[in-house]
Amino acid sequence: MSKLLKEREKDFSRSIKNIEKEYFKKRSKYANAEMIQKIVIILTSAVFFWVLITWYMAVVPVAVALLWWACQGFTHALIGTCIMHDASHGSLSSKRWINQMFAKTFDLVGGYSPIWHTSHVVRHHADTNIVGLDDDLASGKPFLRFSPYFAHSWVSKRQHYIVWFIYFLPTLFWVTVKDFIKFIQYKRDEVKGVQGSWKGLILQKVAYHAIFWIIPWYVSGAPWWLVLTGFLIMHFVAGITLSVIFQPTHVNTDAMDFATKNDAIKFGGRYVRQIVTTCNFAGEPDKNGHLSLRSRIVTWISGGLDHQIEHHIFPGVCHVHYPHLAPKTRKVCKEFGVPYTNYGTLRGALRAHNTYLKELALEES
Ligand SMILES: [Zn+2]
Repeated sequence: MSKLLKEREKDFSRSIKNIEKEYFKKRSKYANAEMIQKIVIILTSAVFFWVLITWYMAVVPVAVALLWWACQGFTHALIGTCIMHDASHGSLSSKRWINQMFAKTFDLVGGYSPIWHTSHVVRHHADTNIVGLDDDLASGKPFLRFSPYFAHSWVSKRQHYIVWFIYFLPTLFWVTVKDFIKFIQYKRDEVKGVQGSWKGLILQKVAYHAIFWIIPWYVSGAPWWLVLTGFLIMHFVAGITLSVIFQPTHVNTDAMDFATKNDAIKFGGRYVRQIVTTCNFAGEPDKNGHLSLRSRIVTWISGGLDHQIEHHIFPGVCHVHYPHLAPKTRKVCKEFGVPYTNYGTLRGALRAHNTYLKELALEES
C-alpha cells in the first residue's frame, strides 16, 4: 500500500474515532435512563410470563397457555438482543461486575454465557465474515451454506426455501447440544480466551431445564404434551426473532463481497473491514428528522442491531446511542468512499439475505 493510501486509512480511522469522542464529550456511552427502563420492562415481562405459565397454565384454555409460552419466548429473544448482548460487550456499565451480572441473563435464556462471549465478542467481532475464524459465518454448517468457500450439503442446495424453517431452531439447539459441541471444539483447537468450565456448563443446563419446564410442569400439574408443546413454541418464537435480527446483517451480497469492495477503496484497516462486512436495516428519518413508529419499534426490539454497522465499529457503546451515531458514521464513510449499506427496512434486509442464500444454493461449490 502506498504512503498516501496509508495516510488515508489513518485519516479514516481517526474520523471514525472522533465520532465517538465528540458525541460522548457530554454524556456517558453506557446505559442511560431509557436503557434502564428497557431492562426493567423486559425482565419484568419475562418473570411475569414465567409466573403465569408455572402457576396457571393448567387452569386456562390451551390456546391461552400456549400464547403465554410464545410471549415467554419473545421476552427471551429481547433479553438476548437488548440486555445480554450489550452486557457481554461491556457496554451496559463502566462497572465490570454489572456487565458480568447482566451477561449471565443469557444462561436463563438457555445458552451458556461464557461460550457465547467467546464465539461472538472474541471471534465474530474480531474476524467478521472471515472463513475459519468467524463462528457466526459457520453457524449454518453442515446444513446451510453462508459462504461461497463452504461445501454444499443436500440441504444447502435448497436452502433459500428451507432456511426459514431452520431459523426457528437455534435456541433449541443451544439448550440441547450446541454449547457442548462448541466447548469441545474450543478445547480441542486450543482457542484463545475461552472462558467457562465443564462444571459451569452442566450446572447451567440443569438449572435452565429445571426452571423452564420441570418446575412449571410440577407446579402447574399440566399434562406433559402441553408443557412440551409450550416449550417448543417458546423456542420457535425466540429462535426466529433472533435469526431475522442477526442473520441478514452479515450474510448477504453487500456484506460478503468485501474483497471487491476493498479493491475499490484500496485501503483497509479494522474499521473498513467491519463496515464493508456489515449492513444496517435502520429506518431513515423524514425531512423533519423524525423516524416512523415502525422503525423505532424495530430499533427497540432489535436492541439497536438494525444499526449493526455502528455496533461493529463502536462495540463498547450501549445500543441506545447507535441511532445518534449513525448519520455521522454514514457521512464519514461517504467522504472517504467507504461503502455503507443500509436496507432501510427489516423486510429489505431479509429479501437481500434470501437472494444471497439462493445464489449460494444454486452455484457450484
Ligand atoms: Zn456484538
